[in-house]
Amino acid sequence: MNKKHDNEKCLNEDPSTLEKEKIGRRDFLKIGSVAGVAAGLSLLPAGKTVAAEKTAKKAAEKILPSMPYRINNKFKPMDHKNTIFARARWDKTIIPDAKKFFGPKEPKNEPGWTQLEAALCSASRSIYSMISGGSASGQPNSPAYKWDIPASKNKYTFKDKADATQKIKRAARFMGASLVGIADYDERWNYDPIFDLKKKEPIPVKFPFQPKSVVVMALEMDYENFATAPSLLATAGADINYSRMAVVASSVADFIRKLGYNSIALGNDVAQSIPYAIAAGLGELGRNGLLVTYEYGPRVRICKIFTELELVADKPKTFGVVDFCKSCKRCAESCPGKAIPMGDPTWEGETLSNNPGIYKWYINPEKCFHFWGENQGDCGTCISSCPYNKPDFWHHKVITAMTSLPGAAVHATMTQMDKMFGYGNIYDKKAVIKWWGQED
Ligand code: SF4
Ligand code: SF4
Repeated sequence: MNKKHDNEKCLNEDPSTLEKEKIGRRDFLKIGSVAGVAAGLSLLPAGKTVAAEKTAKKAAEKILPSMPYRINNKFKPMDHKNTIFARARWDKTIIPDAKKFFGPKEPKNEPGWTQLEAALCSASRSIYSMISGGSASGQPNSPAYKWDIPASKNKYTFKDKADATQKIKRAARFMGASLVGIADYDERWNYDPIFDLKKKEPIPVKFPFQPKSVVVMALEMDYENFATAPSLLATAGADINYSRMAVVASSVADFIRKLGYNSIALGNDVAQSIPYAIAAGLGELGRNGLLVTYEYGPRVRICKIFTELELVADKPKTFGVVDFCKSCKRCAESCPGKAIPMGDPTWEGETLSNNPGIYKWYINPEKCFHFWGENQGDCGTCISSCPYNKPDFWHHKVITAMTSLPGAAVHATMTQMDKMFGYGNIYDKKAVIKWWGQED
């Protein structure tokens, strides 16, 4: 039953050995032509822009042969009890922050933290609270994410795996997913054991069927909300998507069950969403510890379906995020909790909530959650400050296309341009006032 994995096969090129090359004349010419193409793209009418965007994406991304993680022998699936949200239930060092974060919000006389924004947060979370309460913190088996809903006895016959994959992806888009990819089921990314947050006890990972494929879906979050981070408008931007996640994931799982195949919908619970999203080709792991997608940067929420239906797995892809992050550091500089590392990736993090054994940037969840407590809401500055999060601006396309170029210097220049253009600034009262002033 256990799927064995050869960690050696997951090894990618050591990022620390990549040479820092100088920008040559040819690169400058390429920058110039990319900027020209990008500027031209921004002038196209809407329909043609979509087609041109797809072409630009194809040109920018490379398909990888395997998961782009370097894994050593310290790695094992994460004990769910050690995640920061599980610790918020049992760890005396985290509980004071949890009380402030989960407790009622005290309105302040500050745009972004008034009763207006507090009410918006609460309302945005209302459907989530009704049907999947606790799943954002990892509580398994909540009503929207139940494990034991039986599949129809009447099995639909697909022509083949490709036909099944195409139809499931189409349905997922219809149900509200912004991006959909398929990964093979991989026990390394399960929490093991899972921790029941209400009973405060571990649950063995034992599903009522053997999952074979994982449908991974990313939901875009609103740019204008996150532009106000870390205000409660940004928290509302996340909260409304916790409600949407429950609707989208449970609807897609139900669609597959009605075709006769056992499936369970999952939000943040049961398994780590980011490795699955990377395996499904939806994006890369950024310095900020988040999935960075081509389309929306880190401004997404992820939900997933475990299913016994065998689907065609996508491949992981790169469009140069990891390389860009080496010199960008916008999220680390902007993080109000000082929770994002400025240095190189490492094999382990600083806290119990960092699962060691993967070479990556480990954020400090304790510092991050402490800020959330002080803020009485989420934060999202590591989303709003990321150049990839910016909507369809010409410089976004330039950054994307230029990541295929060598040279940290190029990326550093682009980061400076990002600042010069005024993107990535955090908490701006005017953004809150502008948000409320918009008619739709
Ligand atoms: S959510 Fe805020 S505090 Fe936490 S890592 Fe991101 S920027 Fe830092
Ligand atoms: S802000 Fe910069 S360093 Fe941080 S994730 Fe985005 S691209 Fe990477």
